[in-house]
Amino acid sequence: MKVFLDGNLVDEREARISVFDHGLLYGDGIFEGIRVYNKCVFKLEEHLERLENSAKAILLELPWSRQEISLAVCDTCRANNITDGYVRLVVTRGRGTLGLNPYKCSNPQLIVIADTIQLYPEEYYSEGLKIITVPTRRIGPGSLPPTIKSLNYLNNVLAKIEAINAGFMEAIMLNDQGFVGECTGDNLFIVQKDILFTPPSSAGALLGITRKVVLDMAQAIEIEVVESNLTRYDLWVSEECFLTGTAAEVVPVTEIDGRKIGNGMPGPVTRGFMETYKKLAIREGTFL
Ligand code: PMP
Repeated sequence: MKVFLDGNLVDEREARISVFDHGLLYGDGIFEGIRVYNKCVFKLEEHLERLENSAKAILLELPWSRQEISLAVCDTCRANNITDGYVRLVVTRGRGTLGLNPYKCSNPQLIVIADTIQLYPEEYYSEGLKIITVPTRRIGPGSLPPTIKSLNYLNNVLAKIEAINAGFMEAIMLNDQGFVGECTGDNLFIVQKDILFTPPSSAGALLGITRKVVLDMAQAIEIEVVESNLTRYDLWVSEECFLTGTAAEVVPVTEIDGRKIGNGMPGPVTRGFMETYKKLAIREGTFL
């Protein structure tokens, strides 16, 4: 496999970064996960815009133009003959000293990895996912804005461990106020009385690219959308629930904390979004 690193496509065994890189030492960096469908990169501009915003928010000046990053993504996909896959775009603060001071890091690193994707098992989509709420909370916006897609995923990792140890693949993370934030790697939606609800970024939600696609699809078919604080109770009594993410796409949830959602099968609104999303994903994109 060829990996893009420091301006070059190199063999993955040669793709090495310094042990002094603050991305490694402190999780000081940002990333994006991007899908490729049928040789087209899905929502590339949106991912690059979010990357730029994450960089700005952590005062990391990107020395590359959007076009250069875009080219790095496409070149890496082409070099690995990716038709359908997943691209991980990482920007680290770069090599510094052992101290925290990021101003001692002069060379941010751009890393692009393009690989095939391990998809969720088909029954998650046909039968729905069972999820639970876990004790680990989403980091509050006052500590780290949830809109920054940073390399600091330790609390998401802890939440994932708690989910797996309890026998579940995905988990709901609440914020410090006890409202629903999102899942460990996905945004969350519920449907109640023909209205689509999802937590706002102020509650701890990453502004997911897939989340935005769903919000746009809802607008197009005139489903009312409300971004509001949601409690666990709101989820338990919802008619439908689903998760969104670049890797997961739109995945139905049919049980939360032991409570059956709706009739225990993926609901009609969710199935509609799943279908439309699939069509959109293979129709749109930046051709490689
Ligand atoms: N929340 C978190 C914490 C994530 O890591 C992700 C991405 N895997 C998402 C939500 C979904 O965002 P997107 O639709 O942009 O992939």
